[in-house]
Amino acid sequence: MMSAPSLTQRLKSLKNQLAEAASKGGSEVTLVAVSKTKPDADLMEAYHSGHRDFGENRVQELVGKASRLPTDIRWHMIGHIQTNKIKDFLPFVHLVHGVDRLKVLQVLQKEAAKIERQIDILLQVHIAKESTKFGFAPEELHHLADSKKWEDYPNLRPLGLMGMATLTDDQDQIRREFESLSSLHTQVGLELGKVAKARGSSWGILSMGMSGDWPVAVENGSTMVRVGSSIFGHRNRPAP
Ligand SMILES: *Cc1c(COP(=O)(O)O)cnc(C)c1O
Repeated sequence: MMSAPSLTQRLKSLKNQLAEAASKGGSEVTLVAVSKTKPDADLMEAYHSGHRDFGENRVQELVGKASRLPTDIRWHMIGHIQTNKIKDFLPFVHLVHGVDRLKVLQVLQKEAAKIERQIDILLQVHIAKESTKFGFAPEELHHLADSKKWEDYPNLRPLGLMGMATLTDDQDQIRREFESLSSLHTQVGLELGKVAKARGSSWGILSMGMSGDWPVAVENGSTMVRVGSSIFGHRNRPAP
């Protein structure tokens, strides 16, 4: 009997598939391994195979893992953000994916200034049909795509967009949602790219695609996928 593939084997095969899909689109795709609910040992197995980008959606869990695990791990905050917890994760975070409302921008700015850091962020856009998903509406995003407004947030660097497609089997719908996010990314990037550049970085991250839909996301221009269960197996705690 063949034994089930190990975590290392699943990670390796996913990376191969991802590299192949990405090369068709002519770009590189970063894999964020979504390790929420998973024990330190699982993360360390991925770490020992060379992986460094991990995603968490709960502040306490991210902070706990970041303080126990190697300091060269890049921690991605991918969850819905409660503003009173921003100060807790900010010292550890590499990239904040879920910036979905003005209040989050304001508190991020305030706390980033306190610790004198530049914080890299992605603006989350609401592209799904489900009203339970978070994010700026496309009109709100266009409104934010004005470099003048970013003078209020001097410690933040907008590097791209993040979005989640509707949870559905309808591949056409998923494709349409990713296409719309990708086209918004190009449109607002003209203006937000100026802000990123003036602050020493560049616009270009498009964080879309999870275990169930990453191939469609990559076909439509994703540069960063957030994959959990295909690497670490199913979670007991449901995703919020
Ligand atoms: C949990 C989660 C993922 C990963 O989901 P999988 O289906 O396990 O790959 C990706 N993005 C966000 C925002 C999540 O909360």
